[in-house]
Amino acid sequence: MEDLRNRLLRLALENAVEHGGRALLDPVVRRMAAEFPELRPRLRELLPLVEEILAEVNALSPEEQRRRVGEGRRRERRERRRGLPELPNVERYERVVTRFAPNPNGPLHLGHVRAALLSHEYARLYGGKFILRFEDTNPSNARAEMYDRIREDLRWLGIGWDEEFYQSDRLELYYRVAELLLEEGKAYVCLCRAEEFRERRDRGLPCPCRELPPSQHLERWEGMKGGRYREGEAVLRIRTDLGLPNPALRDWPAFRVVEDPHPRVGRRYRVWPLYNFSVSVDDHEMGITHVIRGKEHEVNEARQRLLFQLLGWEYPTVIQYGRLTLAGTKLSKTEIVRAVERGELQGYDDVRLGTLASLRRRGFLPESIRRVILEVGLTPVDASLSWEVLEAQNRKLVDDLALRYFFIPEGVWMRIRKAPSLPAAELPLHPSHPERGRRLLPLRYEDGHLLVLIPSRDLEALKEGQVFRLKDLMNVRLLSKSPPEAEFEGLELLPDVPKIQWVSADPVRVRVLRPDGSFEEGWGEPGLKEVGEGEILQFERYGFVRVERTGREIWTVFAHR
Ligand SMILES: [Zn+2]
Repeated sequence: MEDLRNRLLRLALENAVEHGGRALLDPVVRRMAAEFPELRPRLRELLPLVEEILAEVNALSPEEQRRRVGEGRRRERRERRRGLPELPNVERYERVVTRFAPNPNGPLHLGHVRAALLSHEYARLYGGKFILRFEDTNPSNARAEMYDRIREDLRWLGIGWDEEFYQSDRLELYYRVAELLLEEGKAYVCLCRAEEFRERRDRGLPCPCRELPPSQHLERWEGMKGGRYREGEAVLRIRTDLGLPNPALRDWPAFRVVEDPHPRVGRRYRVWPLYNFSVSVDDHEMGITHVIRGKEHEVNEARQRLLFQLLGWEYPTVIQYGRLTLAGTKLSKTEIVRAVERGELQGYDDVRLGTLASLRRRGFLPESIRRVILEVGLTPVDASLSWEVLEAQNRKLVDDLALRYFFIPEGVWMRIRKAPSLPAAELPLHPSHPERGRRLLPLRYEDGHLLVLIPSRDLEALKEGQVFRLKDLMNVRLLSKSPPEAEFEGLELLPDVPKIQWVSADPVRVRVLRPDGSFEEGWGEPGLKEVGEGEILQFERYGFVRVERTGREIWTVFAHR
């Protein structure tokens, strides 16, 4: 009843706020019938309660009514947010706007996904806007193929965006802001050698360029754009305070000359903004309200705040989180790109990597990744995600999905004496879902003996004389390991005997790519000829795999046990 009362109270409060402080019976009852159809048969009975609530609401001041409506909305949002904290300062902005701003210089890995997922999630939670922005202002490291790869990764994760930008399309805008700063003496073009500048800066001293008049700097700036200076000969610096405690913040560089062609815009520009400058201009221009970022960006943020101040702009609200790494995957984006280009890795989806492409290839579901990352949420301390956590989450989801098959790594043929003559074994494709159908394992007999292939490592672990079960077929007693021979011991299920997967007639060649990059070859049951590319299967007693190639040979990639 309390729940019902709260629901009616919310409707009445919203109606009061919409109608200048006075909730009316008819519209509230209509809304109630529309929102809670299950209450329709009880409307007459509920009228006294509705009238009581209306009287209560109409006795409140309009301010109090508005406050309570806001509170109710916040409460609802809190329930949808699961573990995520409330976004601060939401009331300061008309609408929440967040962005994910990858540098297309390498593939996305789990570390990046956090910023993307959280920014997206918050924009959706608050009915805001989510922007994808490619931060490609370094022509030397942007890679043409990465734009599509990043988009593909995001779509796979279920992240859609409302707008998309390339910074390489926005150079004229950055130039305009630079020129404004130059005119006002808030930036200058420095021709000093980098070491000389740094040496003076670290002592809090200006370089000779700093005191020249704006007209001269504007002239130098034109020279930068026109090709008078080579790479490294001129930078545009933001004038800050040389007394700032952190030398990295003093007169930081905002533009430099890059002669390499850009993968998208070629040689159209030779003066390119540095990260902190283009980020600042874009965050302001795009109306970003909340920036969700790793705490390794602290110095960058301080530089950006100085620029915002110079331009008289309002800095967005920042939400910081700690660094998130996936245990055992230490390669940075640049190292991955280098290794792929040198041929040391198979590609960006090499199974040894923690890239999204690699996780996808191994059969991790996007939902597992989303759940794991949202669970880590916004913890401010650095965290290392273990493979076990990710695998456990994925196992929960794929277990219900994956059809079961037998795979025999490194098999040995075994002869079963006195086995009854059966046409085939019939097994469920999924033990908890009989409706998904059954699979047939045909049997091969020779000279009256049944022949089965079993994993040699299982044979090694057995003792002569021991009884074990050929899974879902029959019990047998091991007579000899070499040559491998056993005899029939009955069909009924026995407690506490090892169960071993097997194949008999028409086995199919199967290859499993392991997470360390090695291959395991073996044989699978004939039903594997029916599976499709991209399917996730469970090889019983072996683990989950994703099918990568079908045909005469089945190629699979190992996910986890
Ligand atoms: Zn200088």
